[in-house]
Amino acid sequence: MTAHPCVRGDVAVLVPAAGMGVRLGPGAPKALRLLRGEPLLVHAVRRVAAAPSVGCIVVAAPSDAVDDVTALLSPLVARTVTSAPIVASETCGAAEHTLEASSESPLLLVVPGGATRQASVAAALAAVPAEFGIVLVHDAARALTPPELVETVADAVRGGHGAVIPVLPVVDTIKEVDNSGIVVGTVDRSVLRAVQTPQGFRRDVLTSAHAAAVDEHTDDAGMAEKIGVPVHTVPGSEAAMKITRPFDLAIAELLF
Ligand code: C5P
Repeated sequence: MTAHPCVRGDVAVLVPAAGMGVRLGPGAPKALRLLRGEPLLVHAVRRVAAAPSVGCIVVAAPSDAVDDVTALLSPLVARTVTSAPIVASETCGAAEHTLEASSESPLLLVVPGGATRQASVAAALAAVPAEFGIVLVHDAARALTPPELVETVADAVRGGHGAVIPVLPVVDTIKEVDNSGIVVGTVDRSVLRAVQTPQGFRRDVLTSAHAAAVDEHTDDAGMAEKIGVPVHTVPGSEAAMKITRPFDLAIAELLF
């Protein structure tokens, strides 16, 4: 794929950040909870923006917080666009967006998220400018994900894989239980992997997977599997842990 001259890299990263995060307890939407004084979303976007391949970041924000999220993230990048067009110096391919040329940092788009993670990802995907052939999906909740992991996933897609996920071995013994809590069986953990984000896709694969999805999925690779696309794995990172419960936030504070 030939990148447009006004685009810094060939990768767009979607960051669904519209969840309420009820498992983290009462308070602000999860992506806006503070870690060392800054929202999780700021930590996540800062690290994604530091990956040299990333030319565009599309954040799906809580629908009532699009302006606040735009203001919050604008200092991290040189160019920011909300769902409304801005006046800028150069048209960059997407019908509804005009962009300013800069090779310093990625373009940032902020769109309203949906009622589910899947809907939020779909809304963000629809906003990706035409020139990006590689699309990664990255949860804001994985706030400490290193830029190197973003590059590893993007490299694997660039190398020819239509769908790529970072994984870690499962360390606990996993049991299947019935509705009354009685163990039905023990799963062979040697064939299991814990899956992280960012998950990477050829753009047409992610678009087709979302178009074909009839039920809710907890990740995008699951949708790619459903349409028969082989999903390639790369080594994940302990630092890409998902901050879901108060305990995770406490661990993240220590890791920082
Ligand atoms: O709920 P879960 O932990 O799976 O959320 C994963 C990511 O998806 C989070 O970053 C969350 O903000 C996002 N999400 C979203 N829109 C929703 C629900 C979750 O963008 N409606």
